[in-house]
Amino acid sequence: MFITVSAAATGCGNGSDNGGKSGSATPATPPTATGTATRSEKPSAKPTSQKFQAQIKKVAAGDLKYSWHQGCPVAPSGLRMIQMTYWGMDKKPHANGQLVVNAKAAGDLVTVFRKLYDMRYPIERMEPVDKYKGSDFASIEAGNTSAFNCRNATGSSSFSQHAFGLAVDLNTCQNPYVYADGHVAHKNCAKYANRKNRDPGVIHAGDRVVKAFASIGWGWGGEWSGARDYQHFSSNGR
Ligand SMILES: [Zn+2]
Repeated sequence: MFITVSAAATGCGNGSDNGGKSGSATPATPPTATGTATRSEKPSAKPTSQKFQAQIKKVAAGDLKYSWHQGCPVAPSGLRMIQMTYWGMDKKPHANGQLVVNAKAAGDLVTVFRKLYDMRYPIERMEPVDKYKGSDFASIEAGNTSAFNCRNATGSSSFSQHAFGLAVDLNTCQNPYVYADGHVAHKNCAKYANRKNRDPGVIHAGDRVVKAFASIGWGWGGEWSGARDYQHFSSNGR
């Protein structure tokens, strides 16, 4: 697992260029002499001791049945699935986070999400939008954190940065898209238009979450003028 994470952290985006690197890793625990191995791995290990893990995997069109189609600006070969640990709202590690992103950004995003995990920033859920049949509304309504979705920007006829896999929507309920007139499309999340709210997961200007994304050069939609998109981080800030 260490090898995977360190390879990911280089951010090269090729995903398969590390052949032979540190190929002679010695096993951490040599096999014991007794034939009946004593299983020392404790399934009941303290959750807080679980380290962040991430794997960057290739995806195919069949994995993106609802979120990708012909005419999208990036082919499935230019996308990756990050499978990673995230810290939950239940204050426990979750090993099954899935985030589909642009291959070029995958390594950088692993760096960001490792930081979020280490600071115990809680994330409600992390599933590809295909679980919601590509519906941005349904994904947000579920409080889902996601990235790639080949769709237009809200209220626009041009591709969103999500269509390139170069934008992440983080804790979509606690950090809603707030129209210029203050409207929030998701009723249960309307209270989060008030950004003085300190509930877990709420992102504030200049906080550690914003800084984690800024460390890879990504901008925050909470800094837009007019409509503000508090859940939205992207490589070009749009
Ligand atoms: Zn977004």
